[in-house]
Amino acid sequence: MTGTLFKSKDKWIVIHGSDPDFSEVWPIELPLHPEDVKSIQDQELIFDNIESRIAAFSKVEFNVVEECPHYSGDHIDKDCSCKSGFIKYAKLKQ
Ligand SMILES: [Zn+2]
Repeated sequence: MTGTLFKSKDKWIVIHGSDPDFSEVWPIELPLHPEDVKSIQDQELIFDNIESRIAAFSKVEFNVVEECPHYSGDHIDKDCSCKSGFIKYAKLKQ
C-alpha cells in the first residue's frame, strides 16, 4: 500500500486513503512500526535534519502488520502469550 509518512505530536504515523479497496477496512492513520521508528532514530544520530529529509520524500510503500503493544524480545510477531490487544502498524517496505 502507499501512504504518506510524517510526524504528528512526536509520533511517526502513516496516513493512507488513496486505495479505495482498503480505506473502508483499514484505519486511515496507522502508527509507524517500532522497527521503522528505531531506524529513523538511528538515522537521526548520523544525519542532520532527518525529519526534513523524510518530509521531502514522504511517500512510502508499506504493509499493515499487527504486533503486540509490548513489542520487544518475546513479544515480536504475535507469538507471545498476550493473545490480544495487538496493534496495527504500518511497516515500511525497504
Ligand atoms: Zn505480547
